[in-house]
Amino acid sequence: MNIAIFSRRHYEQESLQQAFTNSPYQLHFFDVHLNTSHAALAKGCDIVCAFVNDILDAHTLSLLAAGGTRLIALRCAGYNNVDLPTAHQLGIKVVRVPAYSPYAVAEHACALLLSLNRHIHKAYNRVRDSNFSIEGLVGFDLHNKIVGVIGTGEIGSVFCQIMAGFGCHVLAFDPHPNPHCRELGVDYVSLEHLLTHADIISLHCPLTPATKHLINADTLALCKASAVLINTSRGGLIDTQAVISALKRGQLAALGIDVYEEEATVFFEDQSNTVVTDDILMRLTTFPNVLITGHQAFLTHEALHNIAQTTRSNIDTYVANKPLVNEVF
Ligand code: NAD
Repeated sequence: MNIAIFSRRHYEQESLQQAFTNSPYQLHFFDVHLNTSHAALAKGCDIVCAFVNDILDAHTLSLLAAGGTRLIALRCAGYNNVDLPTAHQLGIKVVRVPAYSPYAVAEHACALLLSLNRHIHKAYNRVRDSNFSIEGLVGFDLHNKIVGVIGTGEIGSVFCQIMAGFGCHVLAFDPHPNPHCRELGVDYVSLEHLLTHADIISLHCPLTPATKHLINADTLALCKASAVLINTSRGGLIDTQAVISALKRGQLAALGIDVYEEEATVFFEDQSNTVVTDDILMRLTTFPNVLITGHQAFLTHEALHNIAQTTRSNIDTYVANKPLVNEVF
């Protein structure tokens, strides 16, 4: 059985090859993203293995179906990049890796927050330039601050635990409160209450039609001007133009993002020798109080190992015609 693996990167090659050792499958690795232009590469592959920025829209899915694909095995948790109704119409099943290391992403959110608050990104450059001045590097104690966590599933609940460890008071908004968070002392409140009171806001909910641009001009107007906003979830949760306006007016103190709504054409590639034409992203990089990483929150050895193992198990389960526990509908 043939498996087409798209968006292959060197950092995951080892874990994938380990997971598929002694398997009956033929793996075909492609470095390119899966989209309409590259779907033909999967011709004859029963299974297609895709990642976050592969575009599985209706057209791509119909090309895959015509080429014989019956299973999409996502190597990620989010599935907003897949047109699920079309996949089901075409008889293609979709499975994902629902959790591989919530610690990896929650710890990265914390790293963004600490770096921004204590100006580590600036200090690193100053010291390398023998500039040991600490002017302009004043931060604030996290202890006793109010942290607002939007989405308290696997990742959000770990983030709540980390913030509770710093001595923060954690507020959360989630339509499905998590009993584990309640045990930690997290207070579930309305979105408005959270936005109005939080010193730090961290997004951990999925991107859905209901959450698209959850952070927009109206919701930003509720936030404290001293608030720090962190997004390691999906770029589309934030209306980037509205955030830029808020930053320019001093209505938001700092922004840390690992995801960006138009990241698909930019992230995961070395663009250092090209002219990046995304003016919104480039504007963001000019702010001293904005820290951007290129969708690397998941990138730990543990997470890569778990992603590869669950992907193998998802595929084995499908081939054995057993119930797909990680199927998405
Ligand atoms: P999860 O499904 O365990 O938790 C998501 C939580 O969000 C659930 O508790 C759900 O009830 C809640 N939610 C749904 N709609 C909401 C809304 N409108 N407002 C508030 N909360 C809402 O998911 P997870 O494993 O914690 O992952 C969260 C997100 O993190 C994923 O959807 C994915 O987009 C993102 N992610 C990013 C990376 C990265 O590398 N940057 C890696 C993995 C996951």
